[in-house]
Amino acid sequence: MNINPTIDSALRVALITGSTSGIGAAIARRLSHAGYAVVLHSRSTAKTGHAMAAELKHAIYIQADLALEADRIRLVSEAIAAWGQLDVLVNNAGISRVIPHGDLAAATSAVWHELHEVNVVAPFHLVALAESALRDAARCRRAGSVVNISSHAGVRPKGASIPYAVSKAALNHVTRLLALSLGPDIRVNAVAPGLVDTPLTAEWTGAQELWRERAPMHRAASPDDIAHAVAMLVASDYLTGEVLLSDGGLNLT
Ligand code: NAD
Repeated sequence: MNINPTIDSALRVALITGSTSGIGAAIARRLSHAGYAVVLHSRSTAKTGHAMAAELKHAIYIQADLALEADRIRLVSEAIAAWGQLDVLVNNAGISRVIPHGDLAAATSAVWHELHEVNVVAPFHLVALAESALRDAARCRRAGSVVNISSHAGVRPKGASIPYAVSKAALNHVTRLLALSLGPDIRVNAVAPGLVDTPLTAEWTGAQELWRERAPMHRAASPDDIAHAVAMLVASDYLTGEVLLSDGGLNLT
């Protein structure tokens, strides 16, 4: 179904979760400027989402709580219905909890379950829901790709908390396992950012100092640095199963 007949058949459509702020907003803007129709999404910032959709060419906004299975199902079905196709899924939405790694009691079961549901189960489930449309994209337009936004905390023993780092490590493993089972139709990659300047990290002065002093690039990433890495992976015809560490070289020190 194509409910928007004014759109030409060469158009490609991307759904970017968590795209009204931070890294997701930068990814949505970059893909939009590259010619994609974009489906914007967030859990609660509907006003911002509708304003962004009005500003970008060929864009819609859908609100959904990714902790809820019914919302995930509705999000993917409404995203596909908008233009009758889906070429790219960017699983960017995620949550973090700051807990000192030595404070084991503070990392409760509730925290583990909450982070696992949003950061691991939801991205996997969204890929499962989008699989058929992404295979169609591969058949009809040589498209069909997924990019998961994980974290350097899922690659190295670091991060805001142990449950957060483990959830991102799991997402990296999901990335590789899905690349194996969905290729060659659907490519699945991840970008693992280090520190990124977003409202979330504005108060993380210790981390900012660390990046300024130790990282070869002497700065945190901007959201657009990460969007650039995502666009590179999306544009490839070949890369799959990659976890692209994007930390300004901090891991080398
Ligand atoms: P952000 O808070 O600006 O964006 C997070 C987005 O996720 C928001 O749009 C929010 O609506 C969405 N979201 C959270 N829980 C949701 C839920 N239950 N249902 C639906 N949407 C939900 O933060 P950001 O820094 O731009 O983070 C984007 C991604 O990048 C996250 O996955 C985060 O873990 C990852 N990341 C960020 C950094 C960093 O330094 N900022 C570093 C590494 C990885």
